[in-house]
Amino acid sequence: MKFDVILLAAGKSVRMGMNKMVLPVSGEVILERALEAFLGIPGIEKIIIAVSEEIKKGVKEIASRHHSCEIMLVEGGNCREESVYNCLKHVDSNGVLIHDGARPFVSTKLIKEVMEGVEEKGSCVPGLPITDSIRRVDDGLIVGVGNRNKYWSVQTPQGYVFSELSFAFENMKNSGKSFKDFTDESEIYLSYVKEPYIIPGEKKNRKITDLGDLTGINSRIGSGYDIHVLTSGRKLIICGMEIDFELGCLAHSDGDVGIHALIDALLSASGELDIGSHFPDSDVKYSGIDSTIMLSEVIDTLTKKNHRINNVSITILLEKPKIQDYIPLMRVKLANLLKIPYTDIAISAKTGEGLGDIGESKAIAAYAMVILT
Ligand code: MG
Repeated sequence: MKFDVILLAAGKSVRMGMNKMVLPVSGEVILERALEAFLGIPGIEKIIIAVSEEIKKGVKEIASRHHSCEIMLVEGGNCREESVYNCLKHVDSNGVLIHDGARPFVSTKLIKEVMEGVEEKGSCVPGLPITDSIRRVDDGLIVGVGNRNKYWSVQTPQGYVFSELSFAFENMKNSGKSFKDFTDESEIYLSYVKEPYIIPGEKKNRKITDLGDLTGINSRIGSGYDIHVLTSGRKLIICGMEIDFELGCLAHSDGDVGIHALIDALLSASGELDIGSHFPDSDVKYSGIDSTIMLSEVIDTLTKKNHRINNVSITILLEKPKIQDYIPLMRVKLANLLKIPYTDIAISAKTGEGLGDIGESKAIAAYAMVILT
């Protein structure tokens, strides 16, 4: 049995207030992750993406990067089921899979299980038993109780024999019902064909409905370290702030250990080569350079790769001077450069307890950690 895939990306993301299809996840956007899940699976012939005008250009670009099967774009409808209906007109295979573009974490295993389910039973919908208690609510009050043992929440991809699903949609239209009367295909199939077959879905195959759904998912961690020798006749600059002190860092650049460690953390999290490769100290153009300029260039690189900074943690190791009073200003300075809230930037300072090069004020070092999403 051959399958065409309908990928739904025409939603308005009302609950999110922004188009979630193009939100970055680990350097890709949500929709591309969802698309890639279906590529290369034997038996999948074509992918039909329902798009809104708003993201059409971006989706065309995504589609142009993938050549392992035919990808076509179809104008979405005013609601999910109208989008499905528009796409069904372009299905040529005898089987059809319908998937939410906002479920980027679907596994190949689940897609194959749904395809097998359609071959055996004519339809297949993944779902999960509900574990929370179900209550009917009206006007801020619980007014009834539902039996959760009788209910599953359904996921996608939903799979059907094309002729049966097409029959269900035509009958629905002829019966005077509206696309908006149905929330998914299983409801239409149930109403006009028969009870769809259901199999266990996957917890990780969650639908992204708000930014919170992305927290911790496939985030990328990076760490960085730097150390500079302290010497007289140099300004002491840490995390973009000039500190009042008689010694400064010996360096090719302005010697900002905090920002150098942060740059390495950002580069490593995004899978890039280190600071020395991006800004070689053999290059005269970086002589005495303000490290915030290098940081801004790195942020541009990350932005182009669709990475978003979740949070930053920096530890400065120095014996003298006390930098406690500078830390709030450093956080604000970095927040402006990184374009994230200053509450997502932590900076702490530690002495060397008089021990070693740090303790003897011969050097200043810094550690940085970042999480990218
Ligand atoms: Mg350095």
